[in-house]
Amino acid sequence: MCRSLLRVVMCRIWNDSVMAQVNVSQPFTCSYVPDKCVCVACQRTIDRGCLRIGLVRGQGSDTRLDSYHSSCFWEKCPYKQHVRETSLDRLTFVELFHGFEGMLSHDRLKLEQDACKPPGKFKRKHRHIGLVASGTDDVSLDGGDYELDDNTFDLSNLICVHVFRYKLDVYVSIREYFKPVNATVAKATKTGISLTSRQWNTVCRKRYGIDSALKEIGESQTKTKNKGTDAIKDDNVDGGDDEESQVVFSLSWKRRISIFRKHKEPVVDIRDFSEEKTFKPAGRGITLSRTQWNKLKSLIDCVNYSVILLSKE
Ligand SMILES: [Zn+2]
Repeated sequence: MCRSLLRVVMCRIWNDSVMAQVNVSQPFTCSYVPDKCVCVACQRTIDRGCLRIGLVRGQGSDTRLDSYHSSCFWEKCPYKQHVRETSLDRLTFVELFHGFEGMLSHDRLKLEQDACKPPGKFKRKHRHIGLVASGTDDVSLDGGDYELDDNTFDLSNLICVHVFRYKLDVYVSIREYFKPVNATVAKATKTGISLTSRQWNTVCRKRYGIDSALKEIGESQTKTKNKGTDAIKDDNVDGGDDEESQVVFSLSWKRRISIFRKHKEPVVDIRDFSEEKTFKPAGRGITLSRTQWNKLKSLIDCVNYSVILLSKE
């Protein structure tokens, strides 16, 4: 009884601030429904006080919410793949789900566990072709123009920097975004990494070192190219292989910035490494092209301003 009361109170709070407060970069919401509503997937009722996962549709004054039972969400939501993965951290959930912090702890845990579960139904039926979305799923459109909110900055090609506050700390996240069908506002996906403000400062401080590493690795490629046909043998010796030439900066014990060549272009990769697999890259991270890295550098002042504003809240 106590719990349902608590849920109703929380709904009220959520409802008052409802669409005005939904961060446009957050694709999903989680909340306890104030009044019963209908699940868009199974057409059955979601009872008052029960957990509802919402998909934020449309934008501006046309913003609306598709409601799902949590089990229906993982089965039917067309954008579920943007949050389904085994190695998601809590900060990613905070970034993707509006209202996540306000949930009861066992519901948060349930959501985190559900995101890790393999999509059993599809897996069994379509093992030979991997995971397939059902026929009714619409897909996100990549590229083109997109809108972002005040604390999100574009690095091009739907990779964005997003500054947000969670509890007492402010984080700077570098993440892939997607553009939902019929919308121009881009929304966050699971792919990316949330840096603490201290780690972000380290990135800023090390930018000159990263720049020279990029230059060096970019040039080593040019050199190899310029040698032309008579030096084919040397290609392998001279770091022609992507793994051989790599410069690494440390952000924390398990978090690194690596500069290496990917598809023949030098890239900046910010990633977590796992102790368990003797410091092989873990899933969490983002790879920036040289253009995106330069864009990031040019946005340092804007990002820092957002960090300051959010720290004051
Ligand atoms: Zn349902």
